[in-house]
Amino acid sequence: MIGERVAIVEDMPGVTRDRIYSKAEWLNREFNVIDTGGIELGEEPLLVQMRAQAELAIKEADVIIFIVNGREGVTSADQEVANLLFRSDKPVVLGVNKIDNPDMHEQLYEFYSLGMDTPYPISGSHGLGLGDLLDKVIEHFPEEVSDPYGDDTIRIALIGRPNVGKSSLVNAMLGEERVIVSDIPGTTRDAIDTAFSQDEQEYVLIDTAGMRKRGKVYEATEKYSVLRSLKAIERSNVVLVVINAEEGLIEQDKKIAGYAHEAGRAVIIVVNKWDAVKKDDKTLQNFTQKLRDELLYLTYAPILFVSAKTKQRLHTVLPMVQKVSENHHLRVPTNVLNDMVMDAVAMNPTPTDKGRRLKINYVTQVAVEPPTFVFFVNEPELMHFSYERFLENRLRDTFEFEGTPIKIIARKKN
Ligand code: GDP
Repeated sequence: MIGERVAIVEDMPGVTRDRIYSKAEWLNREFNVIDTGGIELGEEPLLVQMRAQAELAIKEADVIIFIVNGREGVTSADQEVANLLFRSDKPVVLGVNKIDNPDMHEQLYEFYSLGMDTPYPISGSHGLGLGDLLDKVIEHFPEEVSDPYGDDTIRIALIGRPNVGKSSLVNAMLGEERVIVSDIPGTTRDAIDTAFSQDEQEYVLIDTAGMRKRGKVYEATEKYSVLRSLKAIERSNVVLVVINAEEGLIEQDKKIAGYAHEAGRAVIIVVNKWDAVKKDDKTLQNFTQKLRDELLYLTYAPILFVSAKTKQRLHTVLPMVQKVSENHHLRVPTNVLNDMVMDAVAMNPTPTDKGRRLKINYVTQVAVEPPTFVFFVNEPELMHFSYERFLENRLRDTFEFEGTPIKIIARKKN
């Protein structure tokens, strides 16, 4: 379903591979696919896992695709999941997988006993039947809701594991004078956004439900919080990745940060609880180095060391948000860009392969958020990763791109 899009992001070193959340498109409708099967619950028995996965899907999804194994027939686990799905008010489309050829269609019938609508025969490995299934899926999509905020509003997602101090940070930031706050229902069922302005800049904190008042539902489990964070990232411009200074970075922080990067959002790393760390003159430097080593693809993200408790450096957060947001929108004039690239090529000649040399004809910026540059070249495959890195570094040295990813696309000149 997610097809080649996965391949595009996967050649990025250091970015997580076990994705549970991917973008897809069918008949011009864009949507996100959550693979709840990719959500592992450690040592729990299968039935417990399946129940937890189904509960997640029920909470988070607009449409549920219930996949069963056509070769195994209806199992008690299928029945169990079907019962859970029944009790939800979400539309369910039943896909019977591993039906690799039409001779196997008779195996569909027993799945009617699950009490769902028509079972759709599919073959994930052969890519069969997906079209019909997706047609059905998008019939159930909700009306597209437009974002209620103006273009100048900076949408901030504050993400991080439970207990890193997100709610404390939000409270401390909103507690500052000169901040005017209002709650706005977010675009998803139980999301609450918090709008405020400071120094004439409008901001929205995306999905602060449960952050300001200690939440009941919010982050009931860590797995749930990942999905929730990913949705918030989707709707944001700037992502604050909050890390607990006492614990340092853990695997899950990396996953979420990686997603923010892949989604092309501006990113700031906020190390909270800095007050609680025993420090000497090397602590800050060492902590920074460690973060840089572990988040190789996020070298552009500024790191702020703050404390929600003592308010140390908290006043630097919003100015930094504003700055990276500006960089996220930066447009470089074409002539300036091409001059820079010519200088760069003179300094470090383009790569060759089998006697052919990459030739860059011209460069143009095609998008912002994030800044995206198309290099028109003789042979796009000659643009090697290392040269792309070099060009990115030159762009970063020359222009102000702190906090924002940059996309470089090599395209064949016609
Ligand atoms: P959340 O789950 O990410 O929203 O985290 P909370 O804001 O609820 O904070 C979790 C715990 O960390 C609470 O006990 C807070 O009092 C504490 N905490 C939050 N920020 C700081 C900080 O800057 N320094 C210290 N020492 N404790 C903090």
